Amino acid sequence: MNQEKLDPKPKNILIIDDMPDNLRVLSSLLKRRGYQVRQAFNWQMVVSACESLLPDLILLDIMMPDIDGYEICERLKAWDITANIPVIFISALDDVFDKVKAFKVGGVDYITKPFALEEVLVRVQNQLDLREAQVEILKLNTELENRVKERTQALKNALQKLENAAYFRDELQNKLLETVLHDSLTGLPNRVLFIRKLENALQQSKEDSSYQFAVLFLDCDRFKVVNDSLGHLVGDELLIAIARRLQASLSPFDTLSRLGGDEFGILIENITDINIAIKIAESILQKLSVVFKLSRYEVFMSASIGINWGNKNYEKPEYLLRDADTAMYRAKALGRARYHIFDPVMYKEAIQILELENDLRRAIERQEFLVLYQPMISLATGRISGFEALVRWQHPTRGIISPVNFIPVAEETGLITPINTWVLNTACNTLREWQENSEISFSLNMSINLSARLFSDLNIVSIIEKIINDTQINPNNLEIEITESAIMENSAAVKKILHNIKGLKIKLVMDDFGTGYSSLSYLHSFPFHALKIDKSFVKRMQTNEETMALVPAMIGIAHSMGMTAIAEGVETPEQLAQLRSLNCDFAQGYLFSPAIPQELLPEFITSSPQW
Ligand code: C2E
Ligand code: CA
Ligand code: CA
Repeated sequence: MNQEKLDPKPKNILIIDDMPDNLRVLSSLLKRRGYQVRQAFNWQMVVSACESLLPDLILLDIMMPDIDGYEICERLKAWDITANIPVIFISALDDVFDKVKAFKVGGVDYITKPFALEEVLVRVQNQLDLREAQVEILKLNTELENRVKERTQALKNALQKLENAAYFRDELQNKLLETVLHDSLTGLPNRVLFIRKLENALQQSKEDSSYQFAVLFLDCDRFKVVNDSLGHLVGDELLIAIARRLQASLSPFDTLSRLGGDEFGILIENITDINIAIKIAESILQKLSVVFKLSRYEVFMSASIGINWGNKNYEKPEYLLRDADTAMYRAKALGRARYHIFDPVMYKEAIQILELENDLRRAIERQEFLVLYQPMISLATGRISGFEALVRWQHPTRGIISPVNFIPVAEETGLITPINTWVLNTACNTLREWQENSEISFSLNMSINLSARLFSDLNIVSIIEKIINDTQINPNNLEIEITESAIMENSAAVKKILHNIKGLKIKLVMDDFGTGYSSLSYLHSFPFHALKIDKSFVKRMQTNEETMALVPAMIGIAHSMGMTAIAEGVETPEQLAQLRSLNCDFAQGYLFSPAIPQELLPEFITSSPQW
């Protein structure tokens, strides 16, 4: 009872009966107990009653006029909104009441007339409680289901989050790996990754004798010129463009890597012979020979390539690359814009160069150098006009070493600066001795070679200035020889230095004229006093018809630009006669004298030879 009072919503009972008497008794009984009661006399009323408000319980008379109670119960059970409402059958004692059938069609209980009031109430309340419990269970069930669903969803979310986190971590890791193993400018594999690929190739060639590969080492020629003159941004743009062309020359199975600076490595795999690697190198050189149209400039850029045939006997992948590098250096030495194939002999040579470099460092400390002087002859008078200072290295075990064999190494290692400064000093001291000696003609000139490398250092002018001050020589008799290639490397800076040197009253001679590629207009803007025609042209003067006209042309060029012409490498009287007839101004060569030691100079000069 208490429960009913607490229940804010009274239970709703629908009585279905066609007998008004029955209805009244039952209805008033239930109403008195606090139930809401509605009544229906036929199926039509049942439908509308249920549609307006679903009852909590139905009391159903078994005896109805048109359709009986069983049928109504079946319909209620078949209708989805009423299917779960408990139905209690009402029957009179004399009715033919089939209890089994009543339960079969879905009834839950029955009450017999005349009603025992207490029994009715108990049975009704029982069913209502039962129904409530069912509803409660249902509610709990759905709640439980919902909670399970929520929980499942939460778990799913958590799982998704974890998966996302794992994905991002992998992503990040991949990105990190990417940056560690790739070059940021071109996006190509870097040296580390390239070495790994070489290692794999090496391993594979050890396991499978039919697998063969080649390594290419590519270095751009004079890339520094672009960087220095057009700036690093243009340099970067060019590197990207070069990388693209290289990639276009390769198959997707080859590996292209930027090893650093203007160096690239290429791994060519699964090839049958070296000719395939050569073909690729040729195709690269051909592709690079086309002008690069950058955003603001058009640039030509060639490259030198070293090819190394993969060999399973290599201990380390680094050695494969080292030898390709050595071959590349050889390609450069042979004139650039070409390829060269590695030959184990080159390795020995490379080692020798290394040794040479070490020895050279010691040679500077121990002052193992020597300057010899080769006379230069005025062709007008036939007499000595001056001398060219030529350096030698007195190696403690290998004897006298020619500058041809150590100057390139000295230039590459930077050792050229102390060596060349020493030569400058020594030769200037000799010049001072001449100028102090009254027996020797005061007008003898001293010619000194300066390496292109010294022009990358603005200090060279102050070094020369200091030597002039220290030795107190007359700079009018000093000549400095530089090669054509020296002015091409970094022309703007070199031009400035040359003008400063000229400002010291020193004369400038272009050495090895004809072996470079300088155009005449270009030459004109440099302050040269003389052109020294390379000995190779003098040598071919008589032998080769084609080049015969070259020497006269060069002499003509010198004169037309107000310069004097010097011929070097004169070995025969015929050459001398020819040069004289061409109005060449000066000559130098074995015909007159090789380079001689300083001690022999006074005697040589005072003997005053004439040719
Ligand atoms: P270069 O300046 O062209 O010097 C001329 C070279 O030709 C010298 O070789 C000389 O000995 C050689 N020669 C002279 N007359 C004849 C001849 O009639 N026939 C032939 N076939 N050769 C002749 P050297 O002394 O071996 O010097 C070679 C090169 O080394 C020089 O070529 C020069 O480029 C460089 N060099 C020599 N001394 C110095 C130096 O003190 N500083 C620098 N930076 N380079 C130097
Ligand atoms: Ca020279
Ligand atoms: Ca020369």
